[in-house]
Amino acid sequence: SYRGRWSSDSSDSTVSTESECSFSRVVVIGENGVGKSALSGIFAGARDSMGSNCDLLGDDTYERTLDEGSWSQEQCMQAGDAYLIVYSITDRASFEKASELRIRLRRTRQSEDIPIILVGNKSDLVRRRQVSVTEGRACAVVFDCKFIETSAAVHHNVQEMFEGIVRQVRLRRDSKEV
Ligand code: GDP
Repeated sequence: SYRGRWSSDSSDSTVSTESECSFSRVVVIGENGVGKSALSGIFAGARDSMGSNCDLLGDDTYERTLDEGSWSQEQCMQAGDAYLIVYSITDRASFEKASELRIRLRRTRQSEDIPIILVGNKSDLVRRRQVSVTEGRACAVVFDCKFIETSAAVHHNVQEMFEGIVRQVRLRRDSKEV
């Protein structure tokens, strides 16, 4: 496990973007084994292959934290500018855990309007499905957040998920600047 930080251009642009306060930290939370590392790994690969002029990520710098052991849950709840709350569609307990995390997040960051996407991962495992799309969607309505089903295994909707969270971060930021 490790913590990685990267920027789209060079280490110099990391410094400048951070000083301009466009640094965004997307925190990926969820039960063990739901695919957080797998999803984050694809994100890292996508950045590399998309190169420095990537429209999705622009000049922003993103940091990902794959090492949960070094972060307390409380720190995770404080640290993010945006959250991906991940469960596995093959594991109902992880879906229930997602609700718990959403409630905790709401409690910790009460007055803030934080971008959140509820992510139902492992959509490729159709025969092992325990949580329906309808349930996932309904849960997101209650959570007041976006919803997407992904598969890290077959790279389904993974880019859409990251584009979605980046878009929400930018929308919030732009509306604050006006
Ligand atoms: P984490 O504990 O949440 O970081 O979960 P991991 O990313 O380590 O994934 C746990 C296990 O689920 C690994 O064996 C992954 O290969 C597998 N996995 C992750 N995402 C998917 C997926 O979308 N589909 C399938 N079939 N397996 C997945």
